[in-house]
Order: sequence, then C-alpha cells, then structure tokens
Amino acid sequence: MYNKNDILDLKIEDIGSGGEGIAKIAGYVFFVKDTVVGDEIKAKVMKAGKNFGYAKLLEIVKPSKDRVEPNCPVANKCGGCQLLNMSYEAQLKFKEEKVKNNLERIGKVSDYIMQPIVAMSGENGTYRYRNKTQFPVGKNKDGKIVTGFFASRTHSIIEIEDCIASPEVNAYILKAVREYMAEENVSSYDEKNHKGLVRHVLIRNAFATGEINVCLVINGTKIPSENKLIDKLKKSVDEFNKSKADEKAKTQQITGIVINTNKEKTNVIMGDKCKTLWGKECISDKIGDLSFNISPLSFYQVNPVQTVKMYEKALEYANLSGNEKVWDLYCGIGTISLFLAQKAGKVFGVEIVPEAIEDAKENSKLNNIENVEFIAGAAEEVIPEYYKKTGEKPDVIVVDPPRKGCDEKLLETIVESGAKRLVYVSCDSATLARDVKYLSEHGFCLEEVTAFDNFPASVHVEYVCKLNRK
Ligand code: SAH
Repeated sequence: MYNKNDILDLKIEDIGSGGEGIAKIAGYVFFVKDTVVGDEIKAKVMKAGKNFGYAKLLEIVKPSKDRVEPNCPVANKCGGCQLLNMSYEAQLKFKEEKVKNNLERIGKVSDYIMQPIVAMSGENGTYRYRNKTQFPVGKNKDGKIVTGFFASRTHSIIEIEDCIASPEVNAYILKAVREYMAEENVSSYDEKNHKGLVRHVLIRNAFATGEINVCLVINGTKIPSENKLIDKLKKSVDEFNKSKADEKAKTQQITGIVINTNKEKTNVIMGDKCKTLWGKECISDKIGDLSFNISPLSFYQVNPVQTVKMYEKALEYANLSGNEKVWDLYCGIGTISLFLAQKAGKVFGVEIVPEAIEDAKENSKLNNIENVEFIAGAAEEVIPEYYKKTGEKPDVIVVDPPRKGCDEKLLETIVESGAKRLVYVSCDSATLARDVKYLSEHGFCLEEVTAFDNFPASVHVEYVCKLNRK
C-alpha cells in the first residue's frame, strides 16, 4: 500500500480524459498532473486510495519525446489549458484516440470511417484562437485587483495579464478594467461571503469585423462612475491600435459595453439580465459569406478559424440537393441553419435560449434567407410535440447539443421521424458515444467521424459525425 508523502519513481504510460498522466505499478494506478506519456518522473503521493491515488510531479528524470517547453508563463498553474507540456502532434493523437476509445467502449461501434483530425491552422498558429474569453476578477494577497483564470479544480484566481489563447488586445482591456476598479474603489466579488461587485469580465472579439464587446458580470445592477469605465475601455483599444505598426491589426474597436447581473451563489458565469452601458448590445461577425449578430447571452462557436471548416463538414455530411426539409436542433443563433438553408428546401431550427432565437430570426433577415423557421424551447420538448402536430417528415436532421448530449425523448423522435441522415455535431465524445449507441440500436448506422481541434492545448475536442439510416 502507498501512503501520503511517499516518494516514487514513476513512468507515465497513459493519459486520462482530463489530460492527467497515468502511471501504473502492479495494477495500482497513479494520476499525475502536468506529465506526458513517456515521462519518467519522481513524484510525491498526495492521496492514496484502494486502487488508485494522486501524486504530485517533483522532478522529471527523463522527459518524454513528446514533451515540450510550455509557451505560457502560467502553464501548470492555470486551469484553462491542460496540454501545454505536450507537442502539438501528440495532442492531436490524444484527441483522435479519445473519440475512438469512447465510440468503441461506450458506443459499441467499430465499423466506421475515422477521418484524420483537422488541426488548427492560421496566422497565430495554435495560439490566440479564442473569440470569447471569460476572465474572473478578484483580489490578490495584497488586496490588489487581479484578473486571470481559475486554477485547475479550484476557484483561486491565477493572475494573468495576457492569455495566449485569447487576442492580444484583451490584455489592454483587462488593464483598463483593473485600473478603473482601483481608481473608483470598485470591489471585486468574493465567492466565500457572496459580497463584492465585479465577478467576471467577458470579452468577445469578432475576428472578421474587428468588433469587440466587453461585458462586466456583476453582483448587482449598477456600477459606479460608468462614464469613467466607458472612457477607459475605449482608450485602451485606441492604445492597442497605436502600438501596432501593421494596418490590419489596427482595426479593433469596442462597439458595445454591457453589464450582466448575476446575484446568485453559483458557478454559472452569466446571469440572465443584460443592460447596455454604451454602444450596441450585440456584436457583428461573419462566418464565410454570412453575417451574424450575437447577443451577450447567445452561444457562438469559439474558434472562428475552425468553425468554418466544421460547418463545411456538417454541410458535406448533410449532402443536400436543394429540396430537403432539415431540422437544425440546438441551433444557437442560427449559424448552421443558415448555411444549410442555402442548400435546402426548408430549415427548422430549435434552441432553448430565447435571446439566441431572436438573434437567429434577425440573422436570417440580415442575410436575406427566407426558407427558415426558428422556435425557442427545449429540443426534447418542442420536437416531439411539433412532430406529433405536423407529421412533418424531415429528410436530414442536424444536432449540436451541449456536453450532456441529446435527451432520449429527442432521440426517440429522431428515430420515429424517418429522417434518412443525421449529422451529429458534438463537443463531448462520451455523450456522443452514448447517443450513437442508442441510435445504432434503433435503425441508424455511424458512417463517418471527423474530429476538429478547436481548442489547442486544452483537452476539449469537437466532432462532426454522419449517421445514415440502415
Ligand atoms: N449550433 C450552434 C449552437 C451549438 S451550442 C452553433 O454552432 O453555434 C449548443 C446550443 O444548445 C446552445 O446554444 C444552447 O443554448 C442550446 N441548448 C442547450 N440545451 C438545449 C435544449 N435542451 N434544447 C435546445 N437547445 C439547447
């Protein structure tokens, strides 16, 4: 048996779904954070249970061939990226294996085509890919206001001035928020006693248009000296633009400053009420040739470079000829719906967030697309009812659920509806595999899977899958 504080020599042989290294000694398993498969290490036991335990990396005796020097000053502290110690090639391999394992183990399928994972590309390589970042706000030991990210598995804030996953201009914006708070004596929110005002700064950067929306999530409804904040934020982006010699990089501008109220004791970042302090509430962006308005509470794909590739794949798998009836479920602001509508007879979109459905309706007008209809509600409630009432037989169905996957009530209707094809877009391979199991037991067959690396250095992966009726 092992005891706390034992020092062990370990060899990392595998990687867990959260990116943690796994070492085995005679069947006993140790999880060690910040290690890479192939590393030979010295580690200290932190916790030892009956069959498995947790150990802390003390020293790398012999580094794995896949180990790289992390390009981030807070790697292994910040909980945002888990794979910074791993070469990009090894990350991609890990991500491909993850979905294969889950599809086989949970989904019980093996006879399908797995396309090579679509790697991140673009001018910033695997960095600065995010168009939306949420920074928690707090105080450090000296009482100074800090912004950053939560450390993994905790809610203590790791101070970060410039996050390499998010655009450079955000460092200027965060500095402006910290200065405003210090100068105007605005408190940061403290989770422990549920006191203080500013909880998070949410920044959205529209890569295609240069628009920026800054949203302060506060434990209240008003912030003091709004005009100071507005002024500082606008100046911070001007300062960023001036620092850039390259004309193309100078096109950033804040187009909206918004307050979101969240007075709950919760881990959920956003509350459900927004108030515009300055400019417009929505941010405008483009994906391919289509334009979109996005309100602060609506979901929008985070990695614009990869989103285009993913939507093209979804469209390819939908295999539309021009007349099909298509359902786009979990449609958000109607992005996939509008791509599909250009190739289909009619698209029916369902989404649970009412603001997103308002955006979707406006976005169809914005792009002069008329063969779409959107309804707000839970897909598992709206769709069975809609199907019973109208008897409409869709030709193709697209689903893009959140991590928890599709509700079985929805899967039942998908099966019943007689749709010939299902395009399943997923951000969680375990629930994807669970749903694939159900679908393959009820008349569908998984044909092809393509994984997309939308979140380099993090363990998250997106998938687009084609299922055909048997
Ligand atoms: N397809 C869109 C959105 C995908 S994200 C895009 O590519 O942008 C998943 C979406 O599902 C979110 O917008 C979320 O609000 C929505 N959602 C979550 N639970 C839902 C449910 N039960 N029914 C319908 N939509 C839901």
